[in-house]
Amino acid sequence: MVIGAGIVALATSWLLQGRGHRVRLIAPDAHGPDPQDCGNGSAAALGVLMAQVFQRSRGRAWHLRQASLSLWTQWRQQLSGRGWPIPFQAGLLLLPHDIGDTKRLRQLLEERQALGLPLSWWEPSRLQELGLSLVETETNAGGLHSAQDGQLDPLAAMDAFRRDGLRQGLELLSERVVGLERQPAGWRVQGCSGAQAITADWVVLAAGLASEGLLAPLGHQRPLQPVLGQCLELATSAPIRWPCPVVWQGLNLVPRPGGGLWLGATLEPGDQADPELLGPMRQLAGRVLGCDWLRDAAVIRRWQGLRARPLGRPAPLLEHLEPGLLLLSGHYRNGVLLAPASAQWAVEQIEGSLTCR
Ligand SMILES: Cc1cc2nc3c(=O)[nH]c(=O)nc-3n(C[C@H](O)[C@H](O)[C@H](O)COP(=O)(O)OP(=O)(O)OC[C@H]3O[C@@H](n4cnc5c(N)ncnc54)[C@H](O)[C@@H]3O)c2cc1C
Repeated sequence: MVIGAGIVALATSWLLQGRGHRVRLIAPDAHGPDPQDCGNGSAAALGVLMAQVFQRSRGRAWHLRQASLSLWTQWRQQLSGRGWPIPFQAGLLLLPHDIGDTKRLRQLLEERQALGLPLSWWEPSRLQELGLSLVETETNAGGLHSAQDGQLDPLAAMDAFRRDGLRQGLELLSERVVGLERQPAGWRVQGCSGAQAITADWVVLAAGLASEGLLAPLGHQRPLQPVLGQCLELATSAPIRWPCPVVWQGLNLVPRPGGGLWLGATLEPGDQADPELLGPMRQLAGRVLGCDWLRDAAVIRRWQGLRARPLGRPAPLLEHLEPGLLLLSGHYRNGVLLAPASAQWAVEQIEGSLTCR
């Protein structure tokens, strides 16, 4: 039983089902995200995959990112071959925001090139040709391009996992889980409808922020802080010439395939959106990147979502809490990137334990 229907739950269900396990996924939005619901991080995500430009080059976080990036490449090919293509833009361009940041990016370039990774430095003249000119001279030093990072469409990815999973026998139950109960062998999962609880040998809890409340009665304290993000889709008057998404000071600028631009996301602790933050986000991006049109571009769509940030523990929370109970939550800002490695970790726990028996 997989609880949740965000990118992590769907990737895990799909992988388990594909490996021959019988999987049921339970969540209120099991059949697809509710456009009115602002609580699901995955439906709001921009889908930027920052693995090779990650600041550290060792340790758990680095290895999870590398594993995930490589799995995304394999899985996109596999799903596309079965009729579920996931739109992907290859490459990421990181622009520095001050002299210190330029130094940091240059260092990163050297380190990653030493590892044989395809990163390169794009000079200011190249950026200017692409319509990107950092107007503050101290940062007008070019930018770091990573060829293998990129951006995928999270909604298309979730749809692909769901549809391909269904084709292989995945069961979807549209219900909110209200309780988990230990059984002599396995678990009872209680839904909000009051219908008879469902039993399962294994429970994978991937319910984002709601995971905390479902674990607390079992004695597992895993505090998760909501961090809200707001995004905009802007109309563009002329085609964008950047060949890939641009990241600047934590802001993502993602050109849309058919025209338009996604701009986001804010970092707002709590779950209340502050509309005042959208204006400065546009102005800052427009001013600093020399894209004046950004400030006045018409808004096609705006949306928001919540991220689950673990308190006192590193993100993400991938834990085998007790026999038959796995926690996959707290992915904070990188759940789309880390979904494949998280799913693989869950499969290893379950299959490793079956082998031990
Ligand atoms: C604006 C924004 C932009 C982002 N951009 C990026 C990005 O560019 N790249 C990236 O890698 N990450 C990005 N993220 C982060 C990413 O979205 C999250 O890390 C990821 O979505 C977490 O996925 P999840 O499946 O764990 O949780 P969620 O997507 O939050 O899903 C939780 C699921 O649990 C279900 N659920 C809740 N309560 C219950 C219950 N009681 N019973 C059953 N089911 C329940 C919900 O309905 C939902 O289906 C962004 C996030 C936001 C908000």
